[in-house]
Amino acid sequence: MNNDCLFCRIVAGEIPATVVHETDTTLAFRDIGPKAPVHVLVIPKDHHADIAALATTDPKVAADVMAAAAAVAAAEGLTTDGYRLMFNSGRHGGQEVFHVHAHVLGGRPLGPMLAPQ
Ligand code: 5GP
Ligand code: ZN
Repeated sequence: MNNDCLFCRIVAGEIPATVVHETDTTLAFRDIGPKAPVHVLVIPKDHHADIAALATTDPKVAADVMAAAAAVAAAEGLTTDGYRLMFNSGRHGGQEVFHVHAHVLGGRPLGPMLAPQ
């Protein structure tokens, strides 16, 4: 655990979150500032800064995160109409929390993949 990391502290139960799915290796909880009717974050319980670090050091858990995201999407009723799965990475990607997380977004048409410049 990284004591300075917000999401490690959510895993540790030190900061409350609305948990919707949990496995031995992953945790999924609602985003505090939802950008869509469904906006859930899926994280590995162990600290990795971004998807590249996770995929390199623990690809099995990277697969666990993807499977958990799919399970969340199904549980949230997104299977029929679809959803977006997103990993922001680094500065240009808009990453703000440096504990890797997948955004599961859905519940309405999400529009273009990128905001117009
Ligand atoms: P990023 O920009 O790093 O891809 O996404 C970080 C996400 O974490 C944002 O969508 C933001 O709303 C969410 N977030 C930030 N702080 C908290 C928090 O304390 N609790 C929860 N549930 N989400 C948070
Ligand atoms: Zn962390």
